[in-house]
Amino acid sequence: MGYLDELKRFFGDRFSQDEEVLMLYWRDYWPLSLLEETKGKVILPKAVVWPKSIDEIIYLVKTANKLRFKITPYGGGSGVIGAIKGGDVIVDLRGLNKILEVNEEDFYIMVEAGAYLKEIEEYLNSLGYTLRHIPQSYPETVIGGLISTLSMGQYSTKYGGIENMVLNLEVVLPNGDITWLRKNTVPRSAIQDLRFLFLGGEGKFGIITKAILKIHPIPRFIWKNSYLCDDFIQANYIIRDLIRSGIYPAVIRIYDKNESQIRFGVDGVLILLIVEEHDKSILDSIINYVNNKFVECGFKEIGEKPIDKWLKNRFNTINEIINYLIPTNLWFDTIDTAVLWSKFPNLYKKIYQELMKLKGVKYIMSHSSHFYLNGISLYFTVIYEPDEKIYWKIWDTAMRVILNNGGTISHHHGSGRLRRRWVKTELNNSYKFLKRIQASIDVNKVFGGNDDENEEF
Ligand SMILES: Cc1cc2nc3c(=O)[nH]c(=O)nc-3n(C[C@H](O)[C@H](O)[C@H](O)COP(=O)(O)OP(=O)(O)OC[C@H]3O[C@@H](n4cnc5c(N)ncnc54)[C@H](O)[C@@H]3O)c2cc1C
Repeated sequence: MGYLDELKRFFGDRFSQDEEVLMLYWRDYWPLSLLEETKGKVILPKAVVWPKSIDEIIYLVKTANKLRFKITPYGGGSGVIGAIKGGDVIVDLRGLNKILEVNEEDFYIMVEAGAYLKEIEEYLNSLGYTLRHIPQSYPETVIGGLISTLSMGQYSTKYGGIENMVLNLEVVLPNGDITWLRKNTVPRSAIQDLRFLFLGGEGKFGIITKAILKIHPIPRFIWKNSYLCDDFIQANYIIRDLIRSGIYPAVIRIYDKNESQIRFGVDGVLILLIVEEHDKSILDSIINYVNNKFVECGFKEIGEKPIDKWLKNRFNTINEIINYLIPTNLWFDTIDTAVLWSKFPNLYKKIYQELMKLKGVKYIMSHSSHFYLNGISLYFTVIYEPDEKIYWKIWDTAMRVILNNGGTISHHHGSGRLRRRWVKTELNNSYKFLKRIQASIDVNKVFGGNDDENEEF
């Protein structure tokens, strides 16, 4: 019996090869796949299955080893890097979506990996807690996907990325064994930390089935404000000064002039800020410090309107694309990177210089929204004529500029099929080490379909 027949026998009506169903699973939100779809260039997976239990996942993985097919885990499908595209068998993990425990003494939550972030967050909010991990894809994304892409939320400057939240994981390994990564969930341990095989693993090392994550009490006092200034680079360095002084606002967003104009209709560099604390007097002293600093640096306070607009519209990206971009007959992609402070101005300028030289590139805009003591993440949106050759020219150029100017090829979106060609350069000699680990864990190459450079599609 072939593997498709076997899966059909086992999963029954939770197995499908129906073309209409496969169309819903052939891609994630990679802008190139979206563009290809408009041109009818679609690569369907062979089948999709919807397991309801961990035992069914174990069975699936063991069967893949026996009958040799590739598995692609599917979370919310909101990835933007082509980690999901075609393939043998898609496993939709959203049937495993239970919230298993909220521990208010030790401040953690245990969930199944297919649980939607939004549902977890809303449940926690009802109890007075929060994950404080709110990416722009908040309504679409599930826990396993967030972990597997090393995702970053809008409150990152205070709370960090998903790697700062995951305490322990249960995983089904590529041979079908199941294990927690650590017997006891602890705040920290000095015994080998295996979480990073799965944080950013993009389904290469198996399937995450459960996660234990930190929770925070919802802060009682929140202050928001907006400012304008004239210089994007200077504005970011002011934030570095705040951080150096030990002040970590939860949300900081700095839009360069191009993006301020397009998104908010304002002239200048727009700065949005949210500070949150549990104690009013601490919040007041931070507000005082921030206001003094900003006034001293020539920032103009413009009130809450812009930040309220952002808070209201921040999850509306898909509508923006449909309403504003599609009528122009242009297309888009976003390029996320991170870089040390010393290298940031150069990298920022070089991306503009090099990309604007390319034929077919119409507009670039940028913002920064994740800040560290050591550096900054930059996020460029590029608008161009919808042509695959132009698309790859943009990426070739951007990746070259980033790698030659001290940046990472991705700060929070990951690699997928989009960036796999440049992973080798980024990881340098350790790339071979990664590949050896992968080969020794996944002997029959059941996972990792999206990082195979030799794949033809
Ligand atoms: C409009 C929009 C805004 C976005 N904003 C942000 C943002 O602010 N910050 C950010 O970080 N990202 C953002 N993204 C990118 C994307 O949402 C994130 O990368 C997200 O983490 C993907 O989660 P998902 O559940 O949709 O995963 P999917 O797209 O389903 O999968 C992502 C990867 O994880 C693997 N995977 C999924 N579940 C598992 C599992 N249980 N075990 C092992 N592997 C698994 C998949 O095989 C794939 O490789 C945005 C995307 C969109 C479309």
